Amino acid sequence: MRNSVVAYSFRHFPPLMHRSLPLFCLNCHPVPSPSALLFKTSSSSSSSSSCTLLNPFNFTGNYLFRKMERYWSGSGVNKNKGMVEHLQRYGVIQSKKVAEVMETVDRALFVPDGSPAYEDSPMSIGFNATISAPHMHATCLQLLEKHLQPGMHALDVGSGTGYLTACFALMVGPQGRTIGVEHIPELVAMSLKNVEKSAAAPLLKDGSLALHVGDGREGWPEFAPYDAIHVGAAAPEIPKPLIEQLKPGGRLVIPVGNIFQELKVVDKNEDGSVTVRTETSVRYVPLTSREAQLRGY
Ligand code: SAH
Repeated sequence: MRNSVVAYSFRHFPPLMHRSLPLFCLNCHPVPSPSALLFKTSSSSSSSSSCTLLNPFNFTGNYLFRKMERYWSGSGVNKNKGMVEHLQRYGVIQSKKVAEVMETVDRALFVPDGSPAYEDSPMSIGFNATISAPHMHATCLQLLEKHLQPGMHALDVGSGTGYLTACFALMVGPQGRTIGVEHIPELVAMSLKNVEKSAAAPLLKDGSLALHVGDGREGWPEFAPYDAIHVGAAAPEIPKPLIEQLKPGGRLVIPVGNIFQELKVVDKNEDGSVTVRTETSVRYVPLTSREAQLRGY
């Protein structure tokens, strides 16, 4: 896990590729994203993908590389809107609301300066943490959309850069309540600055969006119960306080596991019982103690 690229999962890709491709991506995840289908990442300590060409169709590397390059530049994927359109085209974003919110929150405001903001890959944000890949953010927004209606309460555990927290806040609006909990104080300070530059800034100002330093495994009881809870780091098991803080009818999306991780969708039924299903395989940084994270897990 150390020095590897984490906080991403790969799930969506075009049907043709899906049918044709065995699972190639060596250093990332067995179910590759559209972009990861063509490249494997190196195991360098950098979290941005240093790409080596894979050759699923027996084309030459150059052929595929040129095709991809044309695709990225030709589609304007270096712009936030282009990134969103790319995710729509591949079926990761299916709803207008998720597209709108991802268009409204410019990802470039949340990644470290000089990073390729609109590339579909996770990126290091320091402190052994990463901002998740855009397709992973989109997947979680899709899964939570119905639980992020205006006026609802949302909790983002492991809020990191604040990107997804900002999206949640715009979706639930000023009548709603969005809380981000992150255990690295420096990341919380950074996320506050990020959000202040973003379209979600007014919500931070009016208090309907707040970012706190804390151990997210305990949730944030003050504004419970929540309609939507998202966890951005992989837990060995689903933390009880998070289930307790879920509203009947609410949904928790959480990666669970160690080396093998699955994105779990936990629905609390109206009678208080809980249904858990697996959405997809993923790879995230661990939900752990601050000490363990800072020493590299
Ligand atoms: N979703 C965020 C960050 C993903 S990385 C984004 O895309 O920007 C996961 C984050 O979880 C890291 O920032 C890490 O510091 C945080 N984290 C890990 N364990 C935690 C814990 N116990 N409590 C709160 N945050 C935690």
